[in-house]
Amino acid sequence: MTRTPEHIWNNCLEYIKENISLQSYKTWFSPIVPVKAKGDVLHIQVPSKFFYEWLEEHYIQLLKASIRRELGPQAKLVYSIIVEKPKANVVPQKVQAPKKQAPVRTRPTQVVSTQSQVETTVANPFVLPGLGRVNVESQLNRNYSFDNFIEGDSNRLARSAGYAVAQKPGGTSFNPLLIYGGVGLGKTHLSHAIGLEIEQNFPDKTVLFVSAEKFTQQFIDAIRKNTRNDFVHFYQMIDVLIIDDVQFFSGKEKTQDVFFHIFNHLHQQGKQLILTSDRAPVDMQGMEQRLLSRFKWGLSADLQKPALETRIAILNKKLSNDGIVMPDEIIEYLAHSITSNVRELEGALISLVAHSSLNKKEVTLSLARSIVDRYVKDNVNEITIEIIQKIVSKYFDIPVDILVSKTRKRNIVQARQIVMYLAKKYTKKSLVKIGKENGGRDHATVLHACRTVKNLIDIDKKFSRYVAEIDRKLSFD
Ligand code: ADP
Ligand code: MG
Repeated sequence: MTRTPEHIWNNCLEYIKENISLQSYKTWFSPIVPVKAKGDVLHIQVPSKFFYEWLEEHYIQLLKASIRRELGPQAKLVYSIIVEKPKANVVPQKVQAPKKQAPVRTRPTQVVSTQSQVETTVANPFVLPGLGRVNVESQLNRNYSFDNFIEGDSNRLARSAGYAVAQKPGGTSFNPLLIYGGVGLGKTHLSHAIGLEIEQNFPDKTVLFVSAEKFTQQFIDAIRKNTRNDFVHFYQMIDVLIIDDVQFFSGKEKTQDVFFHIFNHLHQQGKQLILTSDRAPVDMQGMEQRLLSRFKWGLSADLQKPALETRIAILNKKLSNDGIVMPDEIIEYLAHSITSNVRELEGALISLVAHSSLNKKEVTLSLARSIVDRYVKDNVNEITIEIIQKIVSKYFDIPVDILVSKTRKRNIVQARQIVMYLAKKYTKKSLVKIGKENGGRDHATVLHACRTVKNLIDIDKKFSRYVAEIDRKLSFD
């Protein structure tokens, strides 16, 4: 009596099911399709190369035992791997490709395992010739090394936790390691540094850096192309997964869901996860509770704004890397003036160096000053109604309290209208809000003011010059 491949495989599955968790069973065995059975050979089809490799790495013994029970000690297993490229040969009629995958063909290099080999010392009988470990490009930036990451009080905990992880990925209690902090404080840099260090210490480990945004995009593509399984399997075989800016997952339920499963899988296998975020887990809105609770399993370490000495050290490091010499007083001036974050500090330095070389000017304190002014203004001081009031008040020499008072004197009314006009132009405040902050006027008054100023600019040269000058002051002062 000959048995169908389905029959044989179902018996194998019964046995396999008893020996592994339901989750693993669903992930790794449900998608397998039995294709053919002949003698003591069973042909099965798997969804991808990753899938095949995963089975080979983790479930070889189980598979071996299960087919041996069914087909005897000489049992052989042959894999077919679904090829993603369309227009390949069509699957034989009776074979159901799992979940509407693209057409399938049998790989030319099939994997054959014989029990006689299994009995010998060959460690892994399913080895597919020429199919070694999958080579995953880590996407790491060499410049973002530990060497280039200046240590200071602001980053000591995160840095040393990162360093510890790099010595023993997956083997510390810092799993996941979540690095969080404001923009430009070095989260991306530090996470690269950890990845680079691991690559160096453990060349065999597969390290992957990916932004949460890119991960999301890949996931969406995978859904569209019907390759969700491959996507998941790909990520499940990474040894050290670094996801930058996980706050990007906020509100994206499907992505969070798939990430949750990948996370669990990796964590269970003792793989290392490194995450960065621009806020602490408690402040992450739109993130599923179960994911947040996973984030808290390991260590959350924050990056703070660096202190003056650290800022100076960072500038010096940058300069020496670029082979540039700069007077100490200028470095100190920059470090003193720009306190908000490291990215801006570096930006000002680069801008200073560029200005001096483009204009063939020496780097002087006054050049530094003008650049810092621009930086601080552009990045820090956003124009507010209050600032506009002050500038207009100074320009026309009218005290602010008079400016916003009930008086209907023509010159004061006009100055007030200019404030409203500029507030509309430069702030995102509503007409109601602008009216309120200018002596409690209603939105119609503000609208009228804006129209009046526009009209006057067109017809009154002197008035137009006033407005232009105030406008310029706002932009450059
Ligand atoms: P984040 O990801 O937190 O927004 P980045 O990692 O992109 O910040 O850092 C911004 C810039 O500041 C990068 O060029 C980085 O190299 C630099 N930087 C941040 N912290 C340090 C540090 N401690 N030492 C040296 N460079 C730093
Ligand atoms: Mg970043």
